[in-house]
Amino acid sequence: MTRDAAGRPGDGNAFSRFFVRVDNALEPIFTTTPLVDDSPPVDEQELRSRPCPVCGRPISEHAFEETNGNVIMECPTDERLPEPLSNGPLNEFGMPATGRRLEKYEERQAREEAEREAQREAREEAEAERA
Ligand SMILES: [Zn+2]
Repeated sequence: MTRDAAGRPGDGNAFSRFFVRVDNALEPIFTTTPLVDDSPPVDEQELRSRPCPVCGRPISEHAFEETNGNVIMECPTDERLPEPLSNGPLNEFGMPATGRRLEKYEERQAREEAEREAQREAREEAEAERA
């Protein structure tokens, strides 16, 4: 025999009250926090005068073409800034490494330098003993 309504009238049965309690407990966790825009306000004039990372001319001199939702920026000159030389470690995309990968690289470099220094000192001591 099943009951359509059980428990106290108005607030459902134990089953539905259980899920109401679960909902109330989990709601603060799963509701999204309101987005706060804490980035500094962008100055339009400053944006227009920023240098282009490709050619170095101000952005305001560039032409923008929007086709199929892709924005294509056209530089006013054919001159290009020289690409920055990277003789450090690269990440998995071939870009200069940052973050933890760079830290590990620097730690390894320091460790290898210390090992070379220790080997050189040991060699010098051995030569001094022979002489
Ligand atoms: Zn440019």
